[in-house]
Amino acid sequence: MKNAELVTFGNGGLDRAAEWRADSVNLRNRPDAKAVVLWRGKPLVQADALVKIPLDHPLLADAADEMILLGRSEGAPLFAADISGWVPQDLDLTTLDTFLDPTEQVHPALPDAAFRELRGIMTGLDRHDAEVAATAKAIMGWHRSHRFCARCGQESTMAMAGWQRDCAACGGHHFPRTDPVVIMLITHGNDVLLGRSPGWPEGMYSCLAGFVEPGETIEAAVRRETFEEAGVAVGRVSYLSSQPWPFPASLMFGCLGEALSTDLHIDPAEIEDARWVSREELAKAVTGQHPDILPARKGAIAHFLLENWLADRLE
Ligand SMILES: [Zn+2]
Repeated sequence: MKNAELVTFGNGGLDRAAEWRADSVNLRNRPDAKAVVLWRGKPLVQADALVKIPLDHPLLADAADEMILLGRSEGAPLFAADISGWVPQDLDLTTLDTFLDPTEQVHPALPDAAFRELRGIMTGLDRHDAEVAATAKAIMGWHRSHRFCARCGQESTMAMAGWQRDCAACGGHHFPRTDPVVIMLITHGNDVLLGRSPGWPEGMYSCLAGFVEPGETIEAAVRRETFEEAGVAVGRVSYLSSQPWPFPASLMFGCLGEALSTDLHIDPAEIEDARWVSREELAKAVTGQHPDILPARKGAIAHFLLENWLADRLE
């Protein structure tokens, strides 16, 4: 697919400087080193750009001791600092962990910037910042949920500048996870198959998707998930584009699948509804003129694939 890397979070060009990871402690002493800051998974931004602060900035007094080396930015080390331990004065706990937390948190040491939900700002960031934010959010989430060794259960420690966890008790090494998910544009002639999950905003429809299972190819996962969710048999499958999706740690594989049948048998345990939508209907939906279909959110790969299908740019 010609435009495959134009997907949100794609092609950011982050130089990950893996050769620096074994010696990141010394890099923290460099005067040109900077850090992006996240609070409970929300990046610190100012005017649609990630804030990058020197490591002696007072805001980092609230940061965890360990920082993650994200890479090299304009020749200098770029770290990610986690200040999730900081408690804002007027914290509204009711909106945290909702689908899209609309609240912003402002730290007194940097009153012009705010911590904002990545889903809400992802399409406004430039490509480099989007990749940096997605990487920082995903890897911090991994550390948060993998504190203990999966082999022996003892607490493990961060190593290799955040790209590994080591277990002193059993000698195990653990590496950051990325979970593969297939998301598929299933077509039949002029129609595309869309579905909706329970709990989505009213009227929102998107491509079907599901986790790739152990021992399964991407193509087999596309066929299995489409049949499980909608009862539609799929023939030829081709890969289109991928998207890192740090909510919390997925890598989306966007695929095109040709339906062999059109009858729908919905599994209510998986999806609430599925329907065939023509190009003309979808064109209305993306411009907000369809009476009962809202398209996938901008920034999500589903939106990207549907938009390119409409414009005939999938080749
Ligand atoms: Zn262990």
